[in-house]
Amino acid sequence: MTNIKQTGTQDWPPIPEELQSICLDSDDDQYSRFQSNYFQVGHPALIFVAKTEAHVSEVIMYVAQLQRLAKDAVPFSIKSGGHGLTKQSINQNGVILDLSQMNRVTVLDAEKGIFETQCGAVWGDVAAKIGQSGLILSSGDFGDTGVGGLATAGGIGLLVRKQGLTIDRIISATVITGDGNRHVVSEEHEPDLFWALRGGSSQIGVVTNFVFQADAVPQTAQGVSVPIMYQKISYDLKDLWQFLRHWQQWLANCDYDLSSLLMITKQEGGNPLAATATNVWIGESTDKMKTLLRASKNLEQVVEYEWQQMSYADLVKAPHLDNKGDQDAYVKNVLVDQLDAEIVLKLAKLIALDSVMGLEVRAIDGAINMRAINFNAWAHRQAKFFIAVWCDPTMSDDLNQQFKALHLENLGVYGAYSSDISQAETKRVWPSETGRRLHQIAKQYDPNQIFNQSRRI
Ligand SMILES: Cc1cc2nc3c(=O)[nH]c(=O)nc-3n(C[C@H](O)[C@H](O)[C@H](O)COP(=O)(O)OP(=O)(O)OC[C@H]3O[C@@H](n4cnc5c(N)ncnc54)[C@H](O)[C@@H]3O)c2cc1C
Repeated sequence: MTNIKQTGTQDWPPIPEELQSICLDSDDDQYSRFQSNYFQVGHPALIFVAKTEAHVSEVIMYVAQLQRLAKDAVPFSIKSGGHGLTKQSINQNGVILDLSQMNRVTVLDAEKGIFETQCGAVWGDVAAKIGQSGLILSSGDFGDTGVGGLATAGGIGLLVRKQGLTIDRIISATVITGDGNRHVVSEEHEPDLFWALRGGSSQIGVVTNFVFQADAVPQTAQGVSVPIMYQKISYDLKDLWQFLRHWQQWLANCDYDLSSLLMITKQEGGNPLAATATNVWIGESTDKMKTLLRASKNLEQVVEYEWQQMSYADLVKAPHLDNKGDQDAYVKNVLVDQLDAEIVLKLAKLIALDSVMGLEVRAIDGAINMRAINFNAWAHRQAKFFIAVWCDPTMSDDLNQQFKALHLENLGVYGAYSSDISQAETKRVWPSETGRRLHQIAKQYDPNQIFNQSRRI
């Protein structure tokens, strides 16, 4: 980042001096480190690798000018951890604002469970840092997923039944809006903006810092900090509906200390489907917990089984893999308030498609349902199950077509877990009143639609 950059392409305005030191183009050695996200390789004209909020603000103002002056539309992507399933955090021929270097995590008040994190941190590192103070927060279950994308969209993590969405635990945030202005927002200060950035994604602005309320978990007598009981159990499925029925009956006996997610995949020979359950219980192991976890062995024929007490931070440890754009996939999801035989029949048809790699089913009843319907810009408080289908990205039309049968009965869609960026899907993410309110707020804070690489209502 040493050469003086004149412009990105011919008709673009000169790059301001303040941004010279953080600007990369394809001639820079460092360009390849920042050009891709998890799924795809980008070829932007310029990448700005921000280190401060002032940089973020300057970049936004530069891009605003650029979008006014350039002949053609200039895509502007916001990238934190680069794991966004919409894949819009990179682009071709536009500008990427990379926030990965703004990754500080600080415990502000361990006793009250309050910590702050910059948007470029990854969730595995957040868990490790706050774990040192005995704190835990449900977030992404893969340690390399970024704070910025997840904490502006939702956050369905391994402790979701107990703690709810990650965004439900934000108590204040700093956002730079489309005019380059910095706002520190909370329930008391600019509550509309605070409401919108918790679920509204980047159509409102770039959120640089989040303050969270976590929970404290006492360490075990053996000294395991932030203990959880982790159970992984694989089943051979004779019948998908019978299995999911048994799983739901089992869950109904478990209180919200236990969260459960299923990954259902195809298998060769024998029964066509297999399932792996990841069950996580927060806290020291108890007799009640052991009885519940043992009962999960009775849901179907068990193929593999393990459980162990461990620290939450170890479970979601970040591998810090470089984003090389080589993990492409296409994902669709639905949020439903019940999982009955009719829906499961449709799921069975979906998973039989050649294009489909696997089906994820997560129980999300509990804390999510206890918040007011308009608590933040997450529109689906009644949802009790989250169902996602991963498919071959070259066959996404096939999945979109077959998925129509499911949309008839679903409550909505979790935006950050869907690769479908159509307007119809966006309306399913933010339907009715949530959509109207979000639209008004986005119009106020980004009237010129600078943030054009984002789901936008
Ligand atoms: C392997 C894998 C596992 C996952 N597991 C989970 C899971 O368990 N639970 C879950 O809820 N989700 C999960 N996800 C989905 C993922 O959390 C979301 O897609 C999230 O958006 C990723 O955030 P990011 O910062 O890594 O993404 P990025 O690609 O950097 O950003 C995604 C989008 O978010 C917006 N954005 C990014 N940073 C900011 C910011 N600072 N301010 C405003 N907007 C911003 C932009 O619109 C951007 O296009 C998973 C994804 C993958 C690939």
